[in-house]
Amino acid sequence: MSKQFELISFFLFMNLFVIQLFANSKFEWPIYADNIKIRLTSLFGESRSDHFHNGIDISSDNEPVRSIGDGVLLYSRYASDDPFANEWGSGNCVWIAHPEGFISGYLHLKEGREQGILTKEEIYKGEVIGKSGNTGHSSGSHLHFILSKENGTKIINPLPYFSQVEDTKPPQIGQLIIHVDDKFTYVNDKDNINISRSFPVSITIFDGVEKVGLKRGIQKAIYKLNGTKIKQANFNQISLKGNKWVNEDGYSFDELYYKESYFIGELNFVSGENVLEIEATDFHGNTTKKIFALNVNRIK
Ligand SMILES: [Zn+2]
Repeated sequence: MSKQFELISFFLFMNLFVIQLFANSKFEWPIYADNIKIRLTSLFGESRSDHFHNGIDISSDNEPVRSIGDGVLLYSRYASDDPFANEWGSGNCVWIAHPEGFISGYLHLKEGREQGILTKEEIYKGEVIGKSGNTGHSSGSHLHFILSKENGTKIINPLPYFSQVEDTKPPQIGQLIIHVDDKFTYVNDKDNINISRSFPVSITIFDGVEKVGLKRGIQKAIYKLNGTKIKQANFNQISLKGNKWVNEDGYSFDELYYKESYFIGELNFVSGENVLEIEATDFHGNTTKKIFALNVNRIK
């Protein structure tokens, strides 16, 4: 092999190596840890009873929080800036503007602003911009991290922009829930049900995780009734439309969730067998399907 060819193949190899290394990591994790997969306690787009969880939560206490990329300080607020004001839900926070319109937010930081950050001209990727804490509406020390675009009117799932997190467990699909006014009833596969009209139907789904007690949300759900797709819901971004946040399919929170469960729809079951098929996909692409075949007796 000629020296030149060797050199070329070496560069080709290096290129491939670099592409592989950075293929899915436009940004760096805001917390450096090798056990991110179990410290990622909440994901983007989950239900918080009446609103979307607009970021990811990384369990962390008093650790350096780092800028995910090069940028400039957009905004920073610490409780000590105004001791007489009420504490904000976000607690102490830092917001950084990056190229291409990306904005990153770091919430619930520990008191004590990083020295000189307010007067810095530029913030570098990996630079420490604060310490993780438990300020604001936060139960347990963690970093709530937000990635947004379009001046904050579009909030996106940050996971695809970071190096990949391992997840070998597919989502777990639980019971169907039929809501009757303020009450609800659980329904299982092959149940016989008597029903007089259409009712809201929802389903509990959690992404399977390595650590007991973690209940993470999914990234995509497809619901089919008797072979017809009723809804496909993605949980990768929310945009402000008027005064409502909607996901990339145009669904509002109330159209995607029934409190903590995933809202399938107001379903009008026919008499006889009704087959409801639910497909859930997690952030890693693991998919689970579950079928509920219900024997329905329509009553007047
Ligand atoms: Zn959070």
